Amino acid sequence: MTQYVIPALEQVSIPVVGTTARFPVQRIYCVGRNYVDHAQEMGFTGREPPFFFIKPANTVVVANAGETATVPYPTLTKDFQHEIELVACIGTGGKNIKASDAKKHIYGYAVGLDMTRRDLQGEQKKLGRPWCIGKSFDHASPIGPITQADQAGDIENAELFIQVNGKDRQRSTVTKLIWNIGEIIEHISVAWELQPGDLIYTGTPAGVAAVSVGDTMHGHVDGLTDIHVKVV
Ligand code: MN
Repeated sequence: MTQYVIPALEQVSIPVVGTTARFPVQRIYCVGRNYVDHAQEMGFTGREPPFFFIKPANTVVVANAGETATVPYPTLTKDFQHEIELVACIGTGGKNIKASDAKKHIYGYAVGLDMTRRDLQGEQKKLGRPWCIGKSFDHASPIGPITQADQAGDIENAELFIQVNGKDRQRSTVTKLIWNIGEIIEHISVAWELQPGDLIYTGTPAGVAAVSVGDTMHGHVDGLTDIHVKVV
């Protein structure tokens, strides 16, 4: 067995519906501005090529079925925002994957939140600097149990929403993705070799808004396990 000079991090993993075996997380890819109405609310229009950012695996917060997970209000921000997203979970890696073959690489899907320190992201954007401090902080990637693709129903037509304290904040359908799941995988797999365990947060619709300490977020995508996450 390999000996390490400092403690090695434990493998981050996510429960899978219908089995006790867990999904090990590799990288987390996020797609920027992938719903027209959200692109517009962020001040952009049209179908620009998709772009991506990465969060470390250990930003994952697992929201188990029937439980309320907690996310601490992060440091440095006064504008901590939710982004509800469908997450595609890669089971088979590959590079230069065609959109038409992408389904074969997807193990399953989950409901995710791409939590964002929006004020810090905005400052970095203005300065032309990386978004890391706005996006890739601790506890920034809540996610629910994974449903295997063949059990997830018609995910391409699923409705998704997030409510905060029982009130609608974002509501849309996966049909409104600018770049669909296959196209996203095609683009990512040209730039990086996808690996088993990679997660892809596919983007968020309009209505991103701030949460405060004490707020509870309820995320939903048709066919998948709902998530409940409280800001503490
Ligand atoms: Mn996002």
